[in-house]
Amino acid sequence: MAITILDHPLAADLLTILRNKATDPPEFRQIAERLGNLLVAEALSDMPTVDEEIDTPLEATTGTRLRGPVVAVAVLRAGLGLLESVHTLVPDAAIGFAGVQRNEETAEPMEYYTKFPELSSARVLILEPMLATGGSLSWAIDKVKENGAKDIVAVCVVAAPEGVEAIEERHPDVRVVAAALDRELNEHFYIAPGLGDMGDRLFGTL
Ligand code: URA
Repeated sequence: MAITILDHPLAADLLTILRNKATDPPEFRQIAERLGNLLVAEALSDMPTVDEEIDTPLEATTGTRLRGPVVAVAVLRAGLGLLESVHTLVPDAAIGFAGVQRNEETAEPMEYYTKFPELSSARVLILEPMLATGGSLSWAIDKVKENGAKDIVAVCVVAAPEGVEAIEERHPDVRVVAAALDRELNEHFYIAPGLGDMGDRLFGTL
């Protein structure tokens, strides 16, 4: 598995605002979307392309278009925080949903809903902002693979070493893009220093 950590002052700036507990949900959602734009762009940086002959107002030239569809699968609920970035950058991307709830005692993933578009010919971006134990992401990858996905990139905001190791072991073919690789998981399976519970920070729940 390859992991790409964004190395960009703008990404670091946005992530710092997300980490700050003083950032309220309206600003958190906005900043998550802006950071999501950088993450999604990186997740598509190795997309296959195809040449296209076009006419500019001045002359004929050869341009480059993305080859093949892009699909995003939002892991509920935190993945919704990166969805708008996909709509902005790839408006014709079809969207799937993977509903999984973390058992707070065991941190094991429990499925409650899945709905996927056609996956087999697409670059599939799995939107899973917090790569903690890797349990939810690994479950989501299993699900999209069962439904035909072959070209998969996980889009994360913060990753923990434990989660990266789990994905490396279970899904060595999947690339992970993240804004930061943090120090560790704490005893409650939260990423430290992290940014807290991404879903709660996005939606103002406790
Ligand atoms: N999920 C979150 O939202 N935050 C963490 O730190 C770990 C999992």
